[in-house]
Amino acid sequence: MQDRHIGDVRVMRIEEQMGPGFPAKDFFPEFDADTFAAEQHWLAPGYYQPESGKLMTSIHSWLVRTGKYTVLIDSCSGNHKPRPGMPRFDMLNTPYLDRLREAGVQPEEIDFVMCTHLHVDHVGWNTRLENGKWVPTFPNARYVMSRTDHDHWAAVAKRPDSVPYEVNTYNDSVLPIVEARKAEFVAGEHAMCGCFKIKPAPGHTPGQIRLDLESRGKRAIFPGDALHNPVQVPLWKWNSRFCDDLDLARKTRNTLLGDCAEQGALLMPAHFAPPHAVYVKAKGDRFALDWDFDNARGRVS
Ligand SMILES: [Zn+2]
Repeated sequence: MQDRHIGDVRVMRIEEQMGPGFPAKDFFPEFDADTFAAEQHWLAPGYYQPESGKLMTSIHSWLVRTGKYTVLIDSCSGNHKPRPGMPRFDMLNTPYLDRLREAGVQPEEIDFVMCTHLHVDHVGWNTRLENGKWVPTFPNARYVMSRTDHDHWAAVAKRPDSVPYEVNTYNDSVLPIVEARKAEFVAGEHAMCGCFKIKPAPGHTPGQIRLDLESRGKRAIFPGDALHNPVQVPLWKWNSRFCDDLDLARKTRNTLLGDCAEQGALLMPAHFAPPHAVYVKAKGDRFALDWDFDNARGRVS
């Protein structure tokens, strides 16, 4: 399993799913065939599957060991969860927890679960089914989430006209955490665990947060879904169809990429296909990818 080091902090990727996801033309509201075609020479086949027109998508968590704390960033889709109309997330049965154990961590050892936002593919393993009830998968963890996002999705879950899979997501993966008094709500910027800074990154959802990691002068940024596919680095104005506020999401993406370039931070999103993380270079008002190939081959810095 791939291991990365950011200073003294160890980061591993825990995979839930990897494969073709949504068609590119349906996924990006700003999709333009000619603009996309100009990027295809590097996108295919790793990040885009030309024969199906689909984007290659990973769904994973980042497991972070600081020496003192064990932190899980985003918890994928979960098992046995009804997600009507969303086959990729519906009634899954994946060996996600086995992969976590293979990485050397038992669920009981997780100290913090960081929910960058409360979408279906980021909160699923917050809970697991036990005797017909949804219980916290990580019994000793505090689950950190944005107050704004929580209140938004709690309201969505109560509205009679809401999309059923979104109602289920809140009710089976977030509400049981709140009821078990394991939720930690945040607003604004916060320092955490001696190496993280939580920062607002709204737009994809109303209260999305990003996590900036620093250890011994090395940096990484976990942006949640501020972007989904590497094509959104050069084409940073392109949103996803799941972005709530397109203008705000674009602004947040621009800030994020600027910060990565300026700080030399490794960008570690939730859905990039291998090698899953990338450095960013700025050229005027444009951004370019600088793949973290050395780390991908296991030669950690
Ligand atoms: Zn996502």
